[in-house]
Amino acid sequence: MDQIQQLLRVSKRQYGHPPSGVWAAPGRVNLIGEHTDYNDGFVMPFALAERTLVAATPRPEETWTVYSTNVDEQVGFGAEELVPGMQGWQAYVAGVVWALREAGHPVAGAELTISSTVPVGAGLSSSAALECAVLTALVDLYRLEVPLLERAVLARRCENEFVGAPTGLMDQAASTLCTENNALFLDCRTHAYQQVPLDLDAAGLELLVIDTRTPHTHVDGEYAERRGTCERAAAVLDVPALRDVEDLGEALKQLPDELMRKRVRHVVTENERVLQAKAILADDTLPVTERFARLGPLLDASHTSMRDDFEITVPTVDLAVETARSAGAIGARMTGGGFGGCIIALVPRETAGKVAAEVADAFDRAGFRAPTHFVARPSAGAGAVALN
Ligand code: ADP
Ligand code: MG
Repeated sequence: MDQIQQLLRVSKRQYGHPPSGVWAAPGRVNLIGEHTDYNDGFVMPFALAERTLVAATPRPEETWTVYSTNVDEQVGFGAEELVPGMQGWQAYVAGVVWALREAGHPVAGAELTISSTVPVGAGLSSSAALECAVLTALVDLYRLEVPLLERAVLARRCENEFVGAPTGLMDQAASTLCTENNALFLDCRTHAYQQVPLDLDAAGLELLVIDTRTPHTHVDGEYAERRGTCERAAAVLDVPALRDVEDLGEALKQLPDELMRKRVRHVVTENERVLQAKAILADDTLPVTERFARLGPLLDASHTSMRDDFEITVPTVDLAVETARSAGAIGARMTGGGFGGCIIALVPRETAGKVAAEVADAFDRAGFRAPTHFVARPSAGAGAVALN
């Protein structure tokens, strides 16, 4: 049975009647642009085919009931419980109701059923998929006028202020604004965005996502340290954010220590790589195979910069990237905040199986936990799901 039919069945079982509708929002992977968001820089994610579905029915009373098939749990909350800091997975749902109401949108109660194919906690943004699916459902159920970018901003507010996770706009923007066969270029300062062609099929390529399944450790502390160092560096350089560094060579001379120089070099060159990737992929004077041939080295350089300058990779991630490259990937890099998580490898379609198998072999030989993998398909952002 497919995901939608299964969801409808569960929803009927929970509430005794069919829902008013079903909505979906995808997970995402970042093609390039890591740790650039909080430096007011550029990112370029794309939405996955893996998505979170929400079956929803409005309810006049201000109470919400939510069942998630992923955790097999039903929770409920009333309007008086819509207070930032709520614990548990329901915070991602309640926070969306809260953010909409804070912004003045009249949202009453709902019955919700959730089912997701986005791996939870793997850095593919199941959290934004959940927020954006619920938000899209409520916007449609209550016939609200909320422009797409504003939806992403509200879903981010849920995550930042209600759940309490200090993330940038990338995840919610990708889950809301992406379109099929495109990546999304996002300027994290101005929130200007642009669809960038990512037609892998036309080039005979696939983007393989390999999950190293490395347990994340010390991530919060390391993230705070990187962020703090970037902020101090911007202050030394007397710029609002590292995005504003114009001459890297000059900037490096002004910085007091090698650690800060490395961190700044990553951010400045990574922003440059995102801009180059956008220009290359959008250049319709280049054959599509040539565009990807030029993207590959940018992915590789991004990884090297994360490994040597920003120092956010770990042995499993480096091994996966190196093995993917030697097995035939055109380019490969860690994706996500670091210290574990997934890598992406740009591979000729016929080589994908070999690349995945060689990474698995290398992990086995190194005594690492077996990785998992799937093929990422650049997909559409959140919306209503047609029920036939
Ligand atoms: P990521 O976004 O990388 O998957 P996060 O830690 O940001 O990881 O978000 C994962 C959390 O989001 C889960 O621990 C859970 O609280 C919530 N969540 C995501 N998807 C679901 C779902 N389908 N059902 C219930 N909770 C979910
Ligand atoms: Mg998340």
